Amino acid sequence: MAENVFERMERIGARDRMADFQRKMQMPHELKIEYAKRRAVEFAEECARRGLNYHVSVGGLDSITLFMFLRSIGINAPGISVSFLEDISIQRVHKELGVECLKPLKRDDCTFWTKPKVIQEFGFPVLSKELAAKIELLQNPSEKNKTVRHAIITGETGAYGGNQKHSRMKMSQKWLEKFGGYENETEGTAYGTPDFKVSAKCCYYLKERPCDLWAKEHHSVPYLGLMASEGGRRAKSLKINGCNYFGASAIRSAPFAIFQRQDILQLAIDLSVHVPEIYGTIERNSDGTLYTTKAQRTGCSMCGFGIHMEKRPHRFDLLRVRNPKEWERMMYHLVQDDSGEWYGWGKVLDYIGVEWR
Ligand code: SF4
Repeated sequence: MAENVFERMERIGARDRMADFQRKMQMPHELKIEYAKRRAVEFAEECARRGLNYHVSVGGLDSITLFMFLRSIGINAPGISVSFLEDISIQRVHKELGVECLKPLKRDDCTFWTKPKVIQEFGFPVLSKELAAKIELLQNPSEKNKTVRHAIITGETGAYGGNQKHSRMKMSQKWLEKFGGYENETEGTAYGTPDFKVSAKCCYYLKERPCDLWAKEHHSVPYLGLMASEGGRRAKSLKINGCNYFGASAIRSAPFAIFQRQDILQLAIDLSVHVPEIYGTIERNSDGTLYTTKAQRTGCSMCGFGIHMEKRPHRFDLLRVRNPKEWERMMYHLVQDDSGEWYGWGKVLDYIGVEWR
């Protein structure tokens, strides 16, 4: 019988690995830098043994810092990015660093995918990548995803998931109330359904696939600026697999995996990284904590991932100040519904209870 997820975790010693990783996250800053150096060098050496090239996937401040860090230790990995997705100030820094700008995927009609086109076709990237993917499954039911949909609503998994009753697949009650209604008939629930689509496909079409294609063409594997402390979908796999991973289907290095936000900011100062305007400057609180004076994190502009956790002024408020015309377009005129009516993020934010007016 096929091994289930729990048996697999047991076999690879996932619990011990995660505890060890957790200890490393608590090391002093200097030791973490040394650790990151060693992992980055080991990765480059292993790539050389395997005849692979490597590159840095560059986005915001974390990966800009990674790019500079690798340079500082003699690893001259070329940078690639789908820069146009980023804030203009980040694009400027990419240009300065000589980062290669990639284009998004092409559509069947030979035009490139854009954010509005992806949102129109598949749905809004909102809440988190994980949640959006779950909602997308609920919105696109099939025989094949039946078990997963049941798990999203109830937490009950099938045999592969170890027949659990309360698995993490279950969407939190708060979001079930808003998005779980697609299964009301099958599950006997009375949850709500929005009148807009939600999707996690935006990253795939605009970012991930173009980078994968570039990597394939250049026989290259990436250094990524990921940190487990930032949470999200990849935190667990970073804790289990560590900084360098040479798997059957994926190879990557995340030398900053054990870093906290403070480590990145300190390193950015030490390497004199040109901090893009959107972050403001790096300053120190009265208790010594480093912070950026404007955005703490960035992603693409017009992305809704994490918006429900931001305090005001949130990213859409800041956009309104920076570029009122663009704000107007995003809030009201981004995509069309079936009757041809224009709407935008305003409707989505209203539905999830994020104030924006
Ligand atoms: S981060 Fe957001 S806007 Fe950017 S590609 Fe991914 S889903 Fe799209």
